[in-house]
Order: sequence, then structure tokens, then C-alpha cells
Amino acid sequence: MRGRFARLGLNVVGDLLRHLPMRYEHELAELSIEAACERMEAEPKATLAVRGTIAVIRRAPGRRPRIEATLEDETGTARLVWFNAGWVMGKLHPGFELLVQGKGSLYRDTLQFSNPRFTVLDDDEPAPPSNEDRLRPIYPGSEELPSARIERTIEGILEAAIREIEDPLPETYRVQRGLMPLADAYRAAHAPKDEEEARRARERLAFDELLLLQLGVMMRRHHLRERLRAPALRWDDELDARIRARFPFSLTGAQSQVIREIAADLAREGPMNRLLQGDVGAGKTVVALYGMLLAAATGHQACLMAPTELLAEQHLASIRSMLADSDVEIVLLTGGLPAAIRRERLERIASGDVDIVVGTHALLTESVRFKSLALAVVDEQHRFGVAQRAALREKSASDDLVPHVLVMTATPIPRTLSLTLFGDLDVSVIDGRLPGRTPVVTRVVGDEKRDDVYGYVADRLARGEQAYVVVPAIDESDLGLADVHSHLERLAAGSLAGCTIEAMHGRLDAGERDAVMQRFRDGETQCLVATVVIEVGVDVPRATVIVVEHAERFGLAQLHQLRGRVGRGELRGVCALIGNPTTDDATRRLEAIASTEDGFAIAELDLGIRGPGELFGARQSGLPPFRVADLARDIELLNKARTDAAAWIERSPELAAPEEALLRRKLMLVYGEALGIGDVG
Ligand code: ADP
Ligand code: MG
Repeated sequence: MRGRFARLGLNVVGDLLRHLPMRYEHELAELSIEAACERMEAEPKATLAVRGTIAVIRRAPGRRPRIEATLEDETGTARLVWFNAGWVMGKLHPGFELLVQGKGSLYRDTLQFSNPRFTVLDDDEPAPPSNEDRLRPIYPGSEELPSARIERTIEGILEAAIREIEDPLPETYRVQRGLMPLADAYRAAHAPKDEEEARRARERLAFDELLLLQLGVMMRRHHLRERLRAPALRWDDELDARIRARFPFSLTGAQSQVIREIAADLAREGPMNRLLQGDVGAGKTVVALYGMLLAAATGHQACLMAPTELLAEQHLASIRSMLADSDVEIVLLTGGLPAAIRRERLERIASGDVDIVVGTHALLTESVRFKSLALAVVDEQHRFGVAQRAALREKSASDDLVPHVLVMTATPIPRTLSLTLFGDLDVSVIDGRLPGRTPVVTRVVGDEKRDDVYGYVADRLARGEQAYVVVPAIDESDLGLADVHSHLERLAAGSLAGCTIEAMHGRLDAGERDAVMQRFRDGETQCLVATVVIEVGVDVPRATVIVVEHAERFGLAQLHQLRGRVGRGELRGVCALIGNPTTDDATRRLEAIASTEDGFAIAELDLGIRGPGELFGARQSGLPPFRVADLARDIELLNKARTDAAAWIERSPELAAPEEALLRRKLMLVYGEALGIGDVG
């Protein structure tokens, strides 16, 4: 018994209380068959519920196949009929006790139901009889622990459990916000009087979750701003002109605007904590580089952390080429370095001999110490969480100075999500296209068009352009999915015969991968057949075509990232998505990706289709998931919670007032560790 509950994570009374219904069913008061007949006479089309035992059940002959049963209780007999519902025969047998609900009729004084809804009542676990119309809560359960059993258990503990509830929200605030008391909300969630009450209960519980997170986020933000100090970097027109002269192009208006925001942050002592969002290829890295050069020019250091070695090396190469004739010292720091080289680089970083370090997660390891780290840039935020940002802040040699942090993401994060996951960050956005870029043409085609697609690819290759072909799996595996090697062989023997094609996937070691990428970048290789490893950041301007096989198997954000690999130069990019979607979600994803190139619009669509739990950062963020709140539908609540939390923390940064004690305790329990605010106050 206990085991069945424990397996659903229901161990103590509080777990039961928080085990909320996933929905409610309208349930009518049960009538005896006799009372039901009387009711029918008064109200011929009434919908009613009766409980009884099956006496007979049979397939009835006739034109329309139907199943007939008789249901008995102490007061009479009713007739049940199901049309075209052979499955009912397997479910019901004489002797079964049944709760039947539906529209009744009287046929020769006999109560009759056509196609009624029914619940078989298990001897061991009869659902409590309903004496009045109500909403029956339907709980997430299991085969061995059905909803009705959970319902009975919760019914048994509800009132006692509710008496133990202390409302963490101060009374005045709660009333002012028009929220139900917490105890009432739990009672109403489990046993609502009506739908309105259930809605208000849910709202209160969802609001609590959103408010708690926002309070945590605001507390963290306050903590970073007020307690920590970063080097304040001098910035003036002369320096600005010197840095701009480093770039082989002039910066766009959007880039200049963001640079102003960042430079203003860097000039302050309060550490910057900023998220730079911009679609793939929008020109973010250049903006980050500007900040890093500003750090170097003012006698400090900067680092750039990329999610993969490949990207770190790519960043290093492009930064080096822009700084070819300068005395700025740049080194690479990745996990794969030989020990002696690594040691030598660490020493130069610690002594201040190196100005800019480009690296991977290896930057976070204990042994990395900077002399004066002023700016830490994190590329592709969705692979890094709050904890990584905190680790970066500890990299400066001086105990009381932390670096400014700039986080770049090419995965557009819907505003609703950025407010929660990255709510402690200020946000800058680079929008618009870089000069000379043309939109990418996207086509979704079925399998039967595959040869046409590759015929087109062959034409583009013949013109000196390059292509990516992306497949979902590496190995000849299950489901007959295209895998990298067999797909490559097929193409080499067929549509792309005579072209240079190479494979690229995560199982190649770093050295091989670099070599493959280098040959592709140099134009030696015309076509890469790859897994999603090419998803982020890879930048090859002559690559103009991307074909995605089994496109229905990729997520929307992923498809958008993949498409961003092309259209990076002046040549028109084309993205062909080959797929035969079999689910609604897949169809909607492919329609969405074909309908727009706007990453933010795609992110919002993605949020709608998948729900936030599945989205980019949501799981990696390290934050506990919401139980009730749903970011796709509770946007308004979220905004209220955010506004309130900001004002609250402004007024009472530590939540130190006696009436805030419970709220503060809850906050630390849920988010103290995840948000690194446990030590505040
Ligand atoms: P992101 O980091 O947003 O993906 P990058 O900063 O890497 O974008 O820029 C993509 C490409 O565009 C790079 O090759 C970069 O050198 C180039 N680029 C960046 N800004 C400009 C600009 N203002 N004008 C022309 N080319 C630019
Ligand atoms: Mg980039």
C-alpha cells in the first residue's frame, strides 16, 4: 500500500496535499433508478447518473450493431445501449458494479441510456458516492494506484492537512492582490465547488510559484549589484575609435547601440550581468570582442567561453585575424591541451601576461586564475546555467573584485522565459540583418522529392558553393533512419557522384573534427554530411545549402539553428527540410519553421507547441520545475509576479521582516542553492 504511494513520490501528508488534480470531471449526483425515472418524467431530456449492477449484457442482432445491457439496483432496472461500440463487450460483464452517466430517456416506462459514459467500480476501491453535482478531481495516478484511490486518500487527510498550512504571503499583500488564502486554495484545488473556484485556486498556487522564483531572481540581482564590485573600465571616444578601427567593417546601428549599453555597464563598479540575444549570425561575437578589447586596453583581462572546442577555435581564429598587428596577447585554453603547455598558459594568465583567453568549460576549472579579469563572455548561454556564471565570477585573483559577465545566446529565448530563467540578467538584443545578407529560402518537402533536392544541391556545388546535409543519427540503427556514413555513401554513389563529401559527427575525436572543418572552411570539401554537431556557431560563408533529413525528428529551435548555418554570406541561402511528419506537433513545427525566419517568433511558437519544460535552457538551468505554473499560459501572472517582486526586494532586500520570515524560508529552501542566494543576509 505504502509502496504504491511511494512510487508516485507520495510519502507524507504534504506530498498528498501538493499532488494536485490534472483536471476535473463534471459529476452528477447519483440517483436510484426509481428516482431517475421520476426525474425523467419531470424533465424528459435530463442528464443523470445512476449506480447499479450489470445483470445481462449481449450483442443485439439488427441493422446497426449494438450492445445492450441491463443494469439493476434495489429500486428497478435500466436499459443501456451502445451503438458501434464492440469494445464495450470486453470491458463489462454480468455482476460488475457500474456508475453510468448520460442523457436518459423513458421507453415504455423503462429508463434507458444511449451510449452512456460509465465507470466500472472496483470492489476494493469504490469511488465515494456523490450525493450532489460536483467536479470530481482526476489525479495523475498509476495502474496500481488509480485516481479514485488517491481521491479517497486525499479526502481523508484534506481538512487536517489544511489546518497545518501557514500562508507565506503577508495578509495585506495577499488581500491587495486579490488572492485566495493558501489553505482555501488547496481545499478548492482538491474539492472545488465550481469551475470558477478551481480556476482561482490554481491561480493562487501558480502565482506563489512565479512570485517565489521572481523574488529569488530579484534578490540575486540585488545581491550582485549591491554587494559585489567589478573593475570600472574607462571608456571614451578616442578608445572607441581605436577599437572600431580593429574591425574590417563598420558596425551596424544595432551593434553600436548594444555596445553603448555594454560600455555603460562596464564603466560602473556594480558588476554587469547581461544577456546578449541575437539571431544566428547577427553579429554578437563582434560586440563581445569590442568589450574584451576595452578590457585589454584598460589594463585588464577578458575571457570568452564557448560550448565546444570547435567553436572556441573558430573564435580564436577570427579574433586573431582581426588583431593580427596588435600587441594584444591571446591564448586558447581547452581541455585537450598537453600538460606542459597548459601549465605555461595558466602561468601567463595568472601573471597578467595574457590579455584575452578563449576557451571551453576548461576555463572553469579550479586551477585557472586571472590577474585581473574584467570581462567574462559566455557564448551560447543555453548550455550554461547560473552555477557556471557563479564559477566564472570567482576567477579573479582579487577577492573583492568579480568580472563583468556577458552572456551571448543565438537561441532566441522568448521573453517570458528569459524573465524566469535569466531573470537576473539585463537583456540586450541585436536585431536586423547584417549588411549584404539575404533571407534564406526554406522548403519543406516529402520523401518523394529527395532526388530533386539533391539534384539541386549538385547544381549549387557545381557553381562552387558548399552544402550541409544533416541526418539525425550516427549509426546504422533502429527505425531505418538515415545515418551519416550510409547516407554519405548513397550520395557519393548517386546524386552527388564526383563531389568531395566528408562526414562530421560527435564521435570523431577533436583532432579529426577540426581537420574536417578546416577542409570544409578552405573549400576543399564541397559537402558535409553531419549530425547536429554543426548546430551552433559554425560559420562558412560559401555554404549556401542545407538539407535536413527526417526533419520531423528535430525540434523547432534546432531546425532554426541549423538553418542559420547558411545565408551567412552574400549568396542566397536555401534550406530544404525533407520529412514526412506523422504527428500534429511535427507538422506544426515544420509549418512554423517554413513560415518565418524571425528567431523570436519561432521561439514563441516553440513555447506554444512544446511547453517551456522542453525548451532550451529550461532543464539545464538547474532550477526546480514548476508544479502548477505554466509559462505558456500564465504570462500575465508572471508579469504581475515580476513587478511585485522587484518592488518588494527594493523595499526589503533581505525579506527580513517578521511577516516575511516564512516566505524567506520557503525561498531559500526552493531556490537558495540553485540561485546562489543561500548565503545572502
Ligand atoms: P554571431 O556571433 O551573432 O553569430 P558574428 O559576430 O559571429 O555573429 O558575425 C557573423 C559574421 O558576420 C562574422 O563573420 C562577422 O565577422 C561578420 N560581421 C559581424 N558584424 C558585421 C558588420 N557590422 N558588417 C559586416 N560583417 C559583420
Ligand atoms: Mg556566434
